[in-house]
This record gives sequence, C-alpha cells and structure tokens, in this order.
Amino acid sequence: MYRAQNLECPRCREVMTPFNNIINKRLIKCGACGGNWTTLAEFKDLLHEMSPEYELVLSTAVSGHGELKCPECQVAMVRILVDGLELDQCWDHGVWFDFEELQQALRLV
Ligand SMILES: [Zn+2]
Ligand SMILES: [Zn+2]
Repeated sequence: MYRAQNLECPRCREVMTPFNNIINKRLIKCGACGGNWTTLAEFKDLLHEMSPEYELVLSTAVSGHGELKCPECQVAMVRILVDGLELDQCWDHGVWFDFEELQQALRLV
C-alpha cells in the first residue's frame, strides 16, 4: 500500500517514519510518542497472525470526534470502539493507536 513518506504524528506533530514490524505488517510509527498509524484491515491481519482463533469484534459505535486529525488528509478523526478499545479513525485512511492503545489491543488476543 502506498504511503506518503512524511506524515506528521497526529499526537505530537513529529514526522513519522514507515517501518515494517516483526511480522511484516505495514505500520507507520511515531518515534517520539510511540503511536502507530495503520489500517483496520492491517490491524485485523496482525491479530489474526498472532492468534488465528481470535475474532476481532468491530463495533460500529462512534462516540464522536476526537481531538486528533488524520495525518493523511487532516480531517478530524472519529472515535470508534474496537473490542472495547476506543480508537481514532479516518474512514478513508486508517486508524491511530496511541502507544498504550496498541499494547492494550495486542493484549486482547
Ligand atoms: Zn507522536
Ligand atoms: Zn484521512
């Protein structure tokens, strides 16, 4: 998937660098605050590889707009619920995990 190379972290405004994590899913990580920018599809794949039996429960519940803006289009992201975790999502581009949110999400599996 194409990613612009110089996205700014929605949390702290540092420039983020794309990298491949240990199981080769494409994430963009902020080196300053540890946040991660990815897509829900990639996130689901990642959970699936870690735990094939795990079914991610995707809730459509949207709890309003958060304070973060999509690093790709600068539109305010919405807060969504994914298996009890509240995340920031841009419908067109991806989903943002704060460092602790990703750790929590990976602990679900
Ligand atoms: Zn950051
Ligand atoms: Zn966007």
